[in-house]
Amino acid sequence: MPYLVLVAARYRVFSVRVAAVTSLTPHFVRVTLTGDALAEFSSVGLDQRIKIVLPIPGHGFTDLPDGEDWYGSWRALPDAERNPLRTYTVRSFRPDARELDIDFVAHGDTGPASRWVSACRVGDELRIVGPAVPSSPAELPSGAAEFDPGAANRILLAGDETAAPAICAILEALDVATVGHVFIEVPTDADRLPVSAPAGVEVRWIARNGASHGVRMTDQVHAWASTVAAGPSDAPSTCAEPVELADVDVDEQVLWDIPTASDQRPVYAWIAGEAGCVKELRRHLVRGVGLDRKQVAFMGYWRHGKAEN
Ligand SMILES: Cc1cc2nc3c(=O)[nH]c(=O)nc-3n(C[C@H](O)[C@H](O)[C@H](O)COP(=O)(O)OP(=O)(O)OC[C@H]3O[C@@H](n4cnc5c(N)ncnc54)[C@H](O)[C@@H]3O)c2cc1C
Repeated sequence: MPYLVLVAARYRVFSVRVAAVTSLTPHFVRVTLTGDALAEFSSVGLDQRIKIVLPIPGHGFTDLPDGEDWYGSWRALPDAERNPLRTYTVRSFRPDARELDIDFVAHGDTGPASRWVSACRVGDELRIVGPAVPSSPAELPSGAAEFDPGAANRILLAGDETAAPAICAILEALDVATVGHVFIEVPTDADRLPVSAPAGVEVRWIARNGASHGVRMTDQVHAWASTVAAGPSDAPSTCAEPVELADVDVDEQVLWDIPTASDQRPVYAWIAGEAGCVKELRRHLVRGVGLDRKQVAFMGYWRHGKAEN
């Protein structure tokens, strides 16, 4: 599981507390975390992921191990004493203010993270796991962010609401000359978030409004793929021959297919969200349309019916 690799010494547990809780839309809640420990937190990329460590009711964080091998010790704990870990995106980090924002999707009380965010208050304690400021360049953290378009200035970003925080952070940092398309599926019309983007990037918020998860976004990405496959006049055709793909059982494995950096790709695509939906898009784009895998990052962020861990 690529995003569970937290054993490197450069990753550590940061003690933080809730500084603000802001309801952004019916399904997005922004939690601003603060704490002196964040002076040591390292920001490593636009779609940077961290782990949040949730309190155990009645015990808080008393059983959470500390020190360099905290992760090994945490894994060895009995279930009842092991604080739940969940993966979230750093929506923004303000080092001078020692503040970090996370945009949570409130999806009911089915999971500990969603349950926590619906009840959290200013002053509540939390722990996050992330990279510490390196003490030397050799220690630069890696593996905590994936967006890497190389020299491509044409992009596709697509995802559901769990990917919206990463997509918004990416959009706000893109070079003004970037062109492309962005498809973000959210639960309702009222869940569209304000975000700035370069003039040449078309951002479409797609409201599910009761439709099955991922269907509307998938349709839009298929339509995008057919224009790429046809080779638009202002961009080189990006399609190789369709290839066979090893199947990924998204109920047993994490779907995490990331290309190595390349300066050669004319188009770069970044796709994240519910794993079954991402798997379908991967099959369509790579096996069906023949999009080169070196151009697309596919990331299953969560799986219907399965808790993380
Ligand atoms: C790299 C990465 C970055 C992420 N960034 C964010 C982020 O910034 N904001 C964010 O909200 N999420 C983000 N996620 C997704 C988040 O980690 C999952 O949604 C996680 O499962 C939520 O934990 P939980 O404790 O609420 O639910 P869990 O205990 O993991 O799951 C309980 C049940 O809820 C279901 N479930 C989980 N998430 C959802 C959902 N969004 N909608 C409907 N049902 C769901 C599960 O299928 C399961 O049945 C990210 C995931 C990854 C891998």
